[in-house]
Amino acid sequence: MQGTPNQARVPIRTRVNLAFALAVGVLLAIAAASYLSVTSLAETGQWIGHTHEVLAAIDAVAATATTAEAGTRGYALTGEERFLEAYQSGARGVDTGVATLRRLTADNSAEQRRVDRLEPLLREHLARLADTVAIRRDQSGAAAAERVRAGSGTGLAESIQAAVEEMRVAERTLLAARAAASDSRAARTRWIIVLGSLAVVVVTAGSSLMISREIARRREIDRGLRASEARYRLLVDRNLAAIARTRRDGAVLECNDAMVRLLGCASREEVLGMNASDFYAEPADRERLVSGFAPGGGVVDREVRFRRKNGELIWVSITFLEYEDEGQPSFEAVMLDITDRKTTSGRIEELNAVLARQIRDLAAANQELDAFSYSISHDLRAPLRAMQGFSEALLEDYGERLDATGHDYAQRIVAGSRQMDVLIQDLLAYSRLVRAEVNLDPVSLETVVDEARGALELEVKGRGGEIVVDRPLGRVLAHRAVLGQIVTNLLANAVKFTRPDAPPRVRVRGEREHGRVRLWVEDNGIGIAPEHHERIFRAFERLHGMQQYPGTGIGLAIVQKGATRLGGQAGVESEPGAGSRFWVELAEAEGAPA
Ligand code: ADP
Repeated sequence: MQGTPNQARVPIRTRVNLAFALAVGVLLAIAAASYLSVTSLAETGQWIGHTHEVLAAIDAVAATATTAEAGTRGYALTGEERFLEAYQSGARGVDTGVATLRRLTADNSAEQRRVDRLEPLLREHLARLADTVAIRRDQSGAAAAERVRAGSGTGLAESIQAAVEEMRVAERTLLAARAAASDSRAARTRWIIVLGSLAVVVVTAGSSLMISREIARRREIDRGLRASEARYRLLVDRNLAAIARTRRDGAVLECNDAMVRLLGCASREEVLGMNASDFYAEPADRERLVSGFAPGGGVVDREVRFRRKNGELIWVSITFLEYEDEGQPSFEAVMLDITDRKTTSGRIEELNAVLARQIRDLAAANQELDAFSYSISHDLRAPLRAMQGFSEALLEDYGERLDATGHDYAQRIVAGSRQMDVLIQDLLAYSRLVRAEVNLDPVSLETVVDEARGALELEVKGRGGEIVVDRPLGRVLAHRAVLGQIVTNLLANAVKFTRPDAPPRVRVRGEREHGRVRLWVEDNGIGIAPEHHERIFRAFERLHGMQQYPGTGIGLAIVQKGATRLGGQAGVESEPGAGSRFWVELAEAEGAPA
């Protein structure tokens, strides 16, 4: 179960506390509202009781007035003393009744005014009754009866009745208003209790939902943690590298099977019972390792010697990291047995040393050979020239004495020695190219091409052919003389290997790309089969007989070697009968193309 990002920001403890605070707050509000409501209900009840009291007091006053009047009438007609007592208790009751009414309506000025109006009427009524009683006592029953009759005609009783009724009506109106107020307060109190309880139920249900979600989420996290822990365990247990956790003092806390195998022990328990210093060939090695880095640091891929249980010494690559475990500095070490690697790398080092020595010897021998072949080539030229000169002298000075066969032999000697001279010169040129110090400078390709072309122009024109140059060709970084040799050889080949029926047509053009210039020499000659494209660049590799196309087989070797020495390369694209396109690629010289 996942919380929304918003929920995730507020910790669950805070959310639950807030929900409970809200629930308690709502309960307190209900309690306060109920208390206030009940208090005011009680007050309203008191007021209603008070009104009933006033109504009772009004009735009591009316009743005592009636009692006094009835007593007076009885006494006037009969003269009996018991009626006189009824009159007297009624008269007293009127006094106390009026006083009670005044007290009870002290808060109500309108009722006070009504009492003010009622009291004189009652007093007058009592005075009349007292008169009637006096007449009966002092005079006669007839006079008193006459007085009673006359009194009932004055309308005083109706006035008293009206005043009392007015007071009753006023009190009943008050009673009705107070009862209505009491009803509405009771209804409000009920609503407060119902709604408040509902709110508490909602808040409590919400928080219990939140808590149960949180519990489910934590369970999920717990499951994830356990799975991750299991994966981590598997990773450590099944790792081919030996892994161990140790304390600073060397106590081994944990290790995997690879560690048991590395040390040649029987079980993990055995390793856990050892001290980490015992792993090392020299126990002090561990101390040196762990004291060598700052707290929280470590070493990576350090090579140390371990001693296995059977005493065998092995090389181990160890990666050491310090961390804090239960407040104590501890180490996590990952170890690999590199004994084989060490042995192999020792052997490789030995072999490398042998190889380096052999390369040095070979280079020295090569240099010697270069120098030797150079001096041989050089020294061969002198006797060759002598051979050539003497055979030419033989032909000139003794030609007449020689028969045809002698002439032919002498001429063959001359041709052979010339051929050999060319070969020696080519070899010397190649040898110089190999040995010469080559400095690279910007060189104009057009200048070099024009020079080489100039040397061939007469011959080409004589055969009805042409060498076309697409300008500009560009500038390259090269050694002028070496580049001259390359271009001369390519152009010479292009006009040499022609078809018998077609005069040479050669095109020279340049291609610039990514800071390099590729110079193309394209001919319409006999072409070369693809399987020979590579080997013709090797010295003395020729595809044709001397008779048909004379040569030494060194020209393209010079092209290849020269291009390499200038930091470039050379190649060919060709098909038999379709002409050849030789190319040399060199670095372009910075600056404007020439
Ligand atoms: P040489 O020209 O002295 O024979 P090279 O080393 O210059 O020697 O050339 C080697 C061989 O490559 C040549 O004998 C020839 O068979 C072939 N070759 C070189 N250039 C061309 C070309 N332009 N057209 C056809 N074949 C060529």
